[in-house]
Amino acid sequence: MSPCSESGSDPLASLPVHLNKTDLLGLTFEQLELALDHWGVGKGQAKRVFRGLHVKQQALTEIESLGRHAQVIAQHSEIAQARLVTAVKSPDGTEKLLLELYDGAQIEAVLLPMRRERYTLCVSTQVGCAMACAFCATGTMGLKRTLSAGELVAQVYQAFQYVQTKFNQSGPQDQKVLSHLVLMGMGEPLHYYERTRSALKVLLGQHGLCFSARKVTVSTVGLVPAMQRFSQDFEGRVQLALSLHAGRDETRQKIMPVAKKWPLALLKETLLKHPLPGRRVLMLEYVVLPGVNDSPEELDAVAEFCTGLRALVNLIPFNPFKNSPFRSPTEAEVLAVDQGLKQRGVPCSIRVTRGREKSGACGQLAIEGYA
Ligand code: SF4
Repeated sequence: MSPCSESGSDPLASLPVHLNKTDLLGLTFEQLELALDHWGVGKGQAKRVFRGLHVKQQALTEIESLGRHAQVIAQHSEIAQARLVTAVKSPDGTEKLLLELYDGAQIEAVLLPMRRERYTLCVSTQVGCAMACAFCATGTMGLKRTLSAGELVAQVYQAFQYVQTKFNQSGPQDQKVLSHLVLMGMGEPLHYYERTRSALKVLLGQHGLCFSARKVTVSTVGLVPAMQRFSQDFEGRVQLALSLHAGRDETRQKIMPVAKKWPLALLKETLLKHPLPGRRVLMLEYVVLPGVNDSPEELDAVAEFCTGLRALVNLIPFNPFKNSPFRSPTEAEVLAVDQGLKQRGVPCSIRVTRGREKSGACGQLAIEGYA
């Protein structure tokens, strides 16, 4: 599968691709109209098809009154799948879903319960990851492949259905809803930016499940050109989270190979141009690694980086994984970083660790913990 191309004389050439066919689940409503028109089905069927695929999550043959058009659409396109293999629950209520893609490749998505019967889904964008961050289990897997836009959407729908069927049997008084998405699972969401962009457009689009842009967060290690495109495409409506993890380039390069390519000065320049509508702030993720990125000098540099940015530093206590070269910080060590940053005028908060018992916490996703 190649990344989506953007040009060419074929009017459908710019559409997302899955298994060498048009990626039906990855099409926005407008793209679906274009494709149906081109295939002779007619634009008029777009609402029915889009609703069937995205709201009712039906197969083409199940879509009401589609008749022979179902076959025509199937000839030209492919509907991506993300099959639920199993799920494991941590004592804190976090559930890790193991999903299988068409080629047997497996990914993990994590459901995090929130207040008022809401769930956040931590979404994976790749099988493994090429970024090789030293503090992350996924980084040790290498990159196997990137999900198509449709596979990304299918993953969200699988989790959506899981929440609906597992928790909503007891009647409408106790309905649980998947309302928030964080693209922070396996993979770097901006590595193949086109696919993430397509999937987000579908998930946020008005004819589908209509996730609220305010409730969607995209994380990145700091791939500057893709960050710039993301800023333009979503105008700050979708939350951006930068994996900062150090205040100095030399420290950052030791734990994040990608930092050699995109230094902090360039990242800051990019963040300064990122639009922040209303009271929105940038999220700066900071995994606390004792003895690595918690020195006073490092915190001084973080404060310097944050000067002039409307940002919140989110401290993540390091979550251990097999053969990891770091240890988890004690509570006191995390608090010291929190206090140190606040004393330097940097707004920050500590992320509550969840799902660690089943290897479902931040940085632990590597297809383990199902025993
Ligand atoms: S932290 Fe994110 S970008 Fe870094 S290796 Fe892990 S999955 Fe990849």
